[in-house]
Formats: sequence, C-alpha cells, structure tokens
Amino acid sequence: MSTNVIPLAGVIGSPIAHSKSPRLHGYWLKKYGIPGHYVPLHVNSDDLEDVLKTMPRMGFVGANVTIPHKEHVLTFADVVTDRAALIGAANTLIFREDGKLLADNTDGYGFIENLRQGVPGWSADAGPAAVIGAGGAARAVVSALIEVGCPEIRLANRTKARSEALRQEFGTKIQVIDWVQAGNMLEGAALVVNTSSLGMEGKAEMRIPLDGISPDAVVTDLVYTPLETKLLAHARSIGCRTVDGLGMLLYQAVPGFERWFGTRPEVDDALRETMLK
Ligand code: NAP
Repeated sequence: MSTNVIPLAGVIGSPIAHSKSPRLHGYWLKKYGIPGHYVPLHVNSDDLEDVLKTMPRMGFVGANVTIPHKEHVLTFADVVTDRAALIGAANTLIFREDGKLLADNTDGYGFIENLRQGVPGWSADAGPAAVIGAGGAARAVVSALIEVGCPEIRLANRTKARSEALRQEFGTKIQVIDWVQAGNMLEGAALVVNTSSLGMEGKAEMRIPLDGISPDAVVTDLVYTPLETKLLAHARSIGCRTVDGLGMLLYQAVPGFERWFGTRPEVDDALRETMLK
C-alpha cells in the first residue's frame, strides 16, 4: 500500500444497509488510528464485474462480500484460496498490488477461532460434532471442522438433499441424519452447532428436542440475534460450555482487516459492546 494514499475497504452486497461490517471495521480503524475508511457498497449482480475492476483504481485495497454475491464473485477472481474453493464462496477480497484479485473465505476461521477463544483448550478431536443445518454457513463450518481434525460430523437439515450434497463434497466423515432424527444425533456429541436460521429473531423457532445434549458438550449457535438462543440457554442450564455466534462474526473479519490495513486487530469486550448497541 502506498503511504500517501488513504486505504479504502468496504462490503459489497444487495441489500447492504443492514450490514454490521462498517461498524466492526470502523471500530478497529478508530482504535488503531488508521487513516482508512470502510463503507457499505450497494452493488447489483449485473454490475459486480465492473465494480470489481474499478475499485482498485479508486483506492480500494479490498472488500468483504455478502449476499447475493458470495458464490458469483469467484468467477471474477484471479486467485481463489483453497478454502474458498472448497466452500464454493468468498467473503473476503484482496486487490493485490500486482493487479490480481484474490478471493478468500474466512468464515471457517472465524468459527474455529470463536470456539478456541470461548472454550480455552477446545479441541476438535474430542468426539463427534452434531451440526444442524446445511446452508451456506454450514459449508464453512463443516469444511473447517474437517480441517481441524473432527473425527465425525453428524449433519441434519430440513432439506436432506442439501446434507447429502455436503457429504458428496466433503466425504465420509459426514453422516447424514434424517431431520426427524435430529434430536437423537445430539446424544454423545462433543460439539453441537446450529448453523441454521432456526431461533433467529423473526425466523422459525428451534423445535428440535434438546434433551440428548450431554453436559460435557460444547454448544455453539451461529445465530446471534438474540445473543442467547433457546439452544444456548438450554445448554447453559444443564452445565454445557456455550459460545455465542457474535464472536464468529468478529473473528472472521480479523484476517481481512490485517491484509488491508496492515494491523492485526484484537477482538475485545468493547468491540462486542459496540456491535450489540
Ligand atoms: P442459508 O444458506 O439460507 O441456510 C439456511 C439454513 O437454515 C438451511 O439449512 C435451512 O434449511 C435452514 N432453515 C431455514 N428455515 C428453516 C425452518 N423453518 N426449519 C428448518 N430449517 C430451516 O443461510 P446461511 O447463510 O447458512 O445462514 C444461516 C444462519 O447462520 C443465519 O441465521 C445467519 O445469520 C447465521 N450466520 C451467522 C454467522 C456468524 O458470523 N455468526 C455467519 C454466517 C451465518 P433448508 O436447507 O431446508 O432450507
């Protein structure tokens, strides 16, 4: 990055007004006194390619990508990291100084880092993981769990074909469980993860019977509105170690900020409070 240019980054999506990323990166820019800016960018699918070509010429060093461009953006990238290719989607772009566009996916990193910070000593090889949901977020979670050595992933999704597609892609560590059996798969799981939108404000409630969860399990939910979902409240009430979903959102942003602005940012309590306001 040239020293006399103010670095810009942003989040590309449609709609974009609801994005929490400007607040997140804005907090770090201020905290570290970096003279950069991070802006929300409303971009329609038809304009995506042109926008990506123009951004580096305007001083952008990178961007986050959100719905509906996370998959499509891979088509325009010159370099796609292994993890983005495996997940089939990117959330972080870097406009490199050699003119190439690099596409990465940091959701899996954010997921694992959130668990490691929330449960010190957590290890993926403690036993089977039970994963609820098989949408876009589940792809990042499943691929990250396999990468860090999880021995078995039980996967239940309302639409079974989507869990079967994940098994096809990610292999035999994944055991596809019928949606009606989702409660049973929680028994003996060392890690329970909700990657579905169940339990999120404004979405359907989590109705899976939770009594199979062992008090020894670590339980985490990707949903962070509310911060304590019904799943997390139940898990906490029986003595499980629980980790909320806000941390994943914060940690997935760390690698991008570091690449764009040259400082590895810290996820601290004040940041969590800023995001919850
Ligand atoms: P997505 O691709 O649209 O997938 C939605 C998932 O929820 C699918 O598995 C879907 O099942 C399931 N689902 C939706 N309504 C359901 C219902 N009524 N009954 C049963 N299952 C239902 O969305 P996504 O991107 O994976 O995101 C999923 C959730 O994770 C969202 O709440 C999102 O906010 C959250 N998230 C959080 C973070 C974070 O940083 N904390 C990151 C990414 C996502 P079907 O396949 O049957 O439709």
